[in-house]
Amino acid sequence: MPVNELKFRKIITDLSAKNVELVAVSKIQSVTDIKKLYELGQRDFGENYVQELVEKQPLLPPDLRWHFIGHLQTNKVKKIAPFVYLIQGVDSMKLLLEINKHAKKLNKTIRCLLQVHITQEETKFGLDEAELEQILAHVTKTPEKVSNILISGLMGMASFSDDIDKVRREMNYLKMLFDKYKSVCADSNGHNCSFTTLSMGMSGDYKIAIQEGSNMVRIGSLLFGARPAK
Ligand SMILES: *Cc1c(COP(=O)(O)O)cnc(C)c1O
Repeated sequence: MPVNELKFRKIITDLSAKNVELVAVSKIQSVTDIKKLYELGQRDFGENYVQELVEKQPLLPPDLRWHFIGHLQTNKVKKIAPFVYLIQGVDSMKLLLEINKHAKKLNKTIRCLLQVHITQEETKFGLDEAELEQILAHVTKTPEKVSNILISGLMGMASFSDDIDKVRREMNYLKMLFDKYKSVCADSNGHNCSFTTLSMGMSGDYKIAIQEGSNMVRIGSLLFGARPAK
């Protein structure tokens, strides 16, 4: 599928006016198409599959910022730790500790977002509020255990639904949690928890997401056309 240059320019103009960051979701897209977007100025790209990401990364310019947006298994952290820019979708303390371990070995800090489950569906990964609270309590009370992590905010996915009110409610809920735990982090004086980023919104719902307070959207099919079958 060709990159939709016109759409890209429109989206970028719209987003920068609102101070919203764009992550171009490039899963299953070719290196050639990623390069095209890169040449148009895009730097942030999101991938869901570790294997695919480690194959593409060396073929693309080093200043490209790779966001891992899928479910990350602890045994695969090692493969992306050396170059990943932001791990969106951290959904357990175990994963966070594993990321910290590899970050420490590499003598770097790895930025993470905690993924919150905001739909009624059972199938999606993510934390509920109690789990979110628990992880942030660990992080703020025992910062030495996650000294090489920076938790920069939250990530979530609303329902795939035509029911706009429902989507809006879910997003509004995530924004509420973002504001609430942003102050929790700020009050803890911790160095490894500082909320700046609320990642929500995809091709189908990013406009609603921005209205509901998102400042980072993850857009794939609108930019690249429908994804080819894997
Ligand atoms: C695939 C994916 C997206 C982008 O989806 P589009 O509908 O193609 O914009 C965003 N976020 C996550 C977590 C994804 O897996």
